[in-house]
Amino acid sequence: VVQQQFRATHVVIDSRAYQHNLAVVRSLVPNKRVMAIIKSDGYGHGMQLAADALNDADEFGVTCQDDAERLRRHGVSKPLTLLSGRYTAPQLSQFGDRRWRPVVYDDTQLTAFDNLSAGAAIDVWIKIDTGMGRLGFYPHDLADVYQRLRSNPRVGSISLMTHLANADYPEHPSNRYQIARFKESLSQFDFAEASILNSAGTLGFSDSAFDIVRTGLVLYGIAPQARGHATALPLKPVMQFRSQLLSVRAMSAGSPIGYGSTYTLESDTRVGIIAAGYGDGYPRHAPTGTPVYVNGYTVPLIGRVSMDLITVDLGTVDARVGDAVVLWGAENPVELVAEKAGTIAYELTCGITPRVERLTI
Ligand code: PLP
Repeated sequence: VVQQQFRATHVVIDSRAYQHNLAVVRSLVPNKRVMAIIKSDGYGHGMQLAADALNDADEFGVTCQDDAERLRRHGVSKPLTLLSGRYTAPQLSQFGDRRWRPVVYDDTQLTAFDNLSAGAAIDVWIKIDTGMGRLGFYPHDLADVYQRLRSNPRVGSISLMTHLANADYPEHPSNRYQIARFKESLSQFDFAEASILNSAGTLGFSDSAFDIVRTGLVLYGIAPQARGHATALPLKPVMQFRSQLLSVRAMSAGSPIGYGSTYTLESDTRVGIIAAGYGDGYPRHAPTGTPVYVNGYTVPLIGRVSMDLITVDLGTVDARVGDAVVLWGAENPVELVAEKAGTIAYELTCGITPRVERLTI
């Protein structure tokens, strides 16, 4: 479906970049399994497309049954881990046949397991909270949880996972603390698999990869915070968010720019008006100075972001109406745009709005 036939703002997905990024992950943790995290519509890149391009990953991680069902309908047959789903016993009873691996993090889920009737075995993850302060059982409750699941004839393999709170900052003491607590818990029972690392963790703590890493961000070619940007790693960005110059105007020093007149031109210059705004998912909080790539040059955003438009100071750059703009992509790292806008790259790629068409190369 072409949502925007006359507006040249779209996302281009480089499906070959996925394989390159997966190879980077595999080189960091050779002989380990890789769960590709493709929840939230593949971090805004398109979930089914990500699943196709990452066909060499060992497993996929999604949010819940909605994603898992979409993937099965798309023909994906790999095991799927459901990271944060809720389910009743009747819903859960389908999981074994579908090879959905639920993450069990709460008593209500244990009750659903207790109420299962006969059927195919369900492989499960137990999630413990070693310091993230989000989903998971306390490590001191692990023995009870494990026994309850192990004594259930419907439960197949039992694996153990936890999630690092500060993997973006490898020197943060909580990382080593969480890894140590995870190891203690692991030693209590004979778990099928163990998993702790996300993308930043895989970069910082590859010596603690256990059996399977759960990487999302780096597979999209994006560097975790505090790691510079992707090309330094070297990852290949999958997403390019493109637009076009709608108008180029000569404007004089002192002219106010955009809503609220928050920015005033310091000197005579050429101002470019671009066909993208927060209605497309460009962050409204991006301040003056946020980099925009126009016709081969990086120029600064000026004034406020509007719904359909942004403005840039073109200076002496050779640019005219219709010229290509990269809002983010290999030429203009999403990590830098996110940092300027006071957010993280995940939020930007997930925030592309439905009207923006996604093209694949
Ligand atoms: N594991 C869990 C439990 C997650 O919630 C996420 C993402 O939010 C990931 C792994 C993947 O994280 P990243 O995209 O930083 O690799």
